[in-house]
Amino acid sequence: MGRAVGIDLGTTNSCMAIAEGGEIIVIPSGEGQRVMPSVVAFTAKGERLVGLVAKRQAITNPRNTVSSIKRMMGRKFDEVVAERLNVSYEIKSSDRGDAVVRLFDRDYSPPEISAMILQRMKARAEEFLGEPINEAVITVPAYFNEVQREATKAAGRIAGFEVKRVLNEPTAAALAFMEPTERKRLAVYDLGGGTFDISILQVVNGIFEVKATSGNTHLGGDDFDARIVDWLLKEFNRGNGTELGSDPVALQRIREAAERAKCELSSTLEAAINLPFIASDETGPKHLEISLTRGLLEGLIDDLVKMTREPCERALSDAGLKAEDIDHVLLVGGSTRIPLVRKTVEDIFRQKPAHSVNPDEVVGIGAAVEASVLTGQRKDLVLLDVTPLTLGVETLGGVMAPIVERNTPIPIKRSRMFTTAVDNQQVVSIHVLQGERELAEGNRSLGRFELVGIPPARRGAPRIEVAFEIDANGILSVSAKDAVTGRAQGMKVNPSGGLSEDEIHKLMQEAEANAEIDKARMKLVEARNAADQVIYDAGKLLETARKQLEKESWEELENALVSLRMARDGADRIRIAKDTSRVSDLVIQVSRLVEVLDSHAVSEETERILVLEDEEPDIDRGLL
Ligand code: AMP
Repeated sequence: MGRAVGIDLGTTNSCMAIAEGGEIIVIPSGEGQRVMPSVVAFTAKGERLVGLVAKRQAITNPRNTVSSIKRMMGRKFDEVVAERLNVSYEIKSSDRGDAVVRLFDRDYSPPEISAMILQRMKARAEEFLGEPINEAVITVPAYFNEVQREATKAAGRIAGFEVKRVLNEPTAAALAFMEPTERKRLAVYDLGGGTFDISILQVVNGIFEVKATSGNTHLGGDDFDARIVDWLLKEFNRGNGTELGSDPVALQRIREAAERAKCELSSTLEAAINLPFIASDETGPKHLEISLTRGLLEGLIDDLVKMTREPCERALSDAGLKAEDIDHVLLVGGSTRIPLVRKTVEDIFRQKPAHSVNPDEVVGIGAAVEASVLTGQRKDLVLLDVTPLTLGVETLGGVMAPIVERNTPIPIKRSRMFTTAVDNQQVVSIHVLQGERELAEGNRSLGRFELVGIPPARRGAPRIEVAFEIDANGILSVSAKDAVTGRAQGMKVNPSGGLSEDEIHKLMQEAEANAEIDKARMKLVEARNAADQVIYDAGKLLETARKQLEKESWEELENALVSLRMARDGADRIRIAKDTSRVSDLVIQVSRLVEVLDSHAVSEETERILVLEDEEPDIDRGLL
């Protein structure tokens, strides 16, 4: 069995870790950072950028830069629109009503975009570890429904991973934080860019059991940013009478400035927001210069932060516990750095949260712990997870009949008997639902199928067994069986989060092809980087050489440099490498000439000093 990485596929940033010699190490991104922005962009030249490079160019390319794709995973277009996502790219509805992203002339499904992030992480892990990595544990918010989990799994598959487990993020955090020998009750409060999760866990003798989970899939730092952006737009309009909302570039700059100010205010009391030349009209350019205080920020986001209280109380009550029963409160997600959030957590749980873990890495580290368990590297702990939401079927009058209650440990198989609603009914429709509402229409529909061929009988006489089976990843299979005929019918719930098996295969092939393109592109980027370094060195050297040496000594270097500069802006990697090596050689040659001159200069200087010293006694003597 190969090694498996743990991946925290975050809304804003993603983090990856692996077990190595009994330790868990975080695998740094290609740019040397411990997390990678979950951003994908396409340039006008048709290049695909992922991570920091994609994030950096977002200001100039807002329409084709995709961030926060996690918020669209496994979701319908209508749901996403209702939520008013704070993004500049175009979101459309697919033929099936799923949310998709439109970039240039193509629609991309959210699993496809997520797969691009995962694919980059896979390549990075392989580069870092020097071996193929084909297995992964990927985390999801505990509150993700079946469709969203399946969409995440599909993303992993498209990227070329065998997804060993789709793991709840808070559970992962607990795995990273606790020693299996401890006996503790833990609350994990996870507020990231787009989602809020609360989980209550218990660890006894190496068994991690999630007692309850709750949360809000549409609450996080992005919403705080949106409040600041709205405030900035209003303030700017008040001061200048200019609407900025319709200019995507201005809006992107404002969004970034809002997020920066928010982060700054976690450690300072006042943040200056300066955006020169944000707009212009007949009176000239306009600048946005304003100060945001921590107090004002807290006023803007207070109601949002308070919205985390109710899920915490619900999770405690579902677990049959009180705040006092919790031994540690663990903070996860970048937004838990906000002092108001920490204070709210302290109020809810009546204790200070633990400070020993890095909220950005703890989930990825925990995923790596689970990966090491699943690949047999570690044997001292077992993980029991639970279903985040109640699962059931629709019955007469549009009422949902629960079959597996929320917070039931998984894997699990449960069944309930049903019967017909009218006399001689020969077909029953099994409508699978997920959610906590009593009426079917208030819950999420996961799919439906029919069981046909029921022998005619009085209503209430037939016995139909509906069985739900949930595997360790939280993926649901449903079957219905007529007890008389033994006839059965079943479905796996939306096995791919809105994508058919064929589509997944096609995307896997595309991703593989793109991996080659990506590798070639990486090589080109590396060649350009090497060229840039040499261009810089050669430029500096030429400045000196022109002053000190005859033209014939540096002319060849100058010409080679012109050629390298042209090659560097092209896409011919071989030519860049060749020109780089040529310029490098010439740099060495010319530097030697400069060095020789310098050494002469030094020795002349030295001689002069010696002469002076020799002269000194005379001078001194003369004075004497
Ligand atoms: P995550 O999804 O866990 O990566 O969290 C990302 C969210 O945390 C984004 O909304 C960030 O703006 C936010 N964030 C990161 N650092 C800070 C900070 N120092 N203060 C406030 N929010 C932060």
